[in-house]
Amino acid sequence: MNWGLIGASTIAAEHMIGAIRACGGNPVWVVSGSPAHAQRFAAEHGIARASDDLAAMLADPGVEAVYISSTNEKHRSQALAAIAAGKHVICEKPLAMTVAEAAGMVRASRDAGVVFATNHHLRNAGSHQAIRAVIAQGRIGKVLSLRVHHAVHLPPHLQGWRINDAGAGGGVIPDITVHDADTVRFLTGEDPEKVVAQAGVSGMGRGVEDSVMSVWSLPSGAMVMAHESFTHRFAGSGVEVHGTDGSIFARGVMTQRPVGEVELVTAEGREIVPYSAHDLYAHGVAAFLGAARGEGQPAADGVDGVKSLAVAMAVREAAGTGRRVTVAYGGV
Ligand code: NDP
Repeated sequence: MNWGLIGASTIAAEHMIGAIRACGGNPVWVVSGSPAHAQRFAAEHGIARASDDLAAMLADPGVEAVYISSTNEKHRSQALAAIAAGKHVICEKPLAMTVAEAAGMVRASRDAGVVFATNHHLRNAGSHQAIRAVIAQGRIGKVLSLRVHHAVHLPPHLQGWRINDAGAGGGVIPDITVHDADTVRFLTGEDPEKVVAQAGVSGMGRGVEDSVMSVWSLPSGAMVMAHESFTHRFAGSGVEVHGTDGSIFARGVMTQRPVGEVELVTAEGREIVPYSAHDLYAHGVAAFLGAARGEGQPAADGVDGVKSLAVAMAVREAAGTGRRVTVAYGGV
């Protein structure tokens, strides 16, 4: 399948071009707001065509799929244009700047009959799939609570719009809380209902939050404690899931690589849970290609992207108002 890349981004360079090629795909266009940047990017990554003309790329009948990894405020208009052109779309998270906009993107993809996926990589990780299986097998009993540790140190080459440009969708909540919301939904099969939160600036953010802590309630009564930050050098990452009959401690798993340890603790003792160490992004692209062939669903579809954004926006509202906020899922 021939692909068009919309956005000459770090994530495309570091992960997605490789993932697309690993699945037999061929990125043939890159479109960027800056023609010079597009040319450099295309040369560096062996992509035949570089342009700042999105319409020209979308008019190419040879392009069947697009991957959108521009800054967040551009996702909506670019995705709607690609959908209108009949392309299958993988769009980066957050899908849009508001839940209503994201829901509109999902509706447009349904009307057009194209596959629309959200690039939530964590649910593609063997570690998270193993945690989900342990929960589903009933090995920890009824889930009581989850603790998500996702306070990282944003590397210098990413300390741009994320930390200083609210208009581009900056801030740790649209950047990382969305991933944690998707992960909790994936692991538990539940949509968070109500959230409370506090957010702030802890050394990096300018005009946007760089740290947030929040607590979410799930319909089952389980509670989630989530911590996301751009400023924590040594905190590590992880997720814990605590149930009536056991606890799962997954260390170092909130990451882009297939690393970390999953430990299950029950009355029988402690055991390390094995998992597949496949590439997260290639796994997601493979599921997307299957869906485009009419076989199965994307790993995270558009509705998943709307829902992760809905939780994140509820967290931001709760932090801003000091109130407990009911998550509004946009009617999708
Ligand atoms: P970058 O900052 O690397 O790139 C974003 C945009 O900035 C590019 O698309 C490009 O604009 C512009 N840009 C970047 N470098 C240059 C340059 N040298 N000259 C001119 N313009 C430049 O963003 P990220 O890769 O970090 O993030 C992109 C998207 O991917 C975001 O939506 C983010 O949330 C998401 N993301 C998802 C991850 C995941 O695991 N799912 C991980 C990381 C990011 P233009 O669009 O005009 O080409």
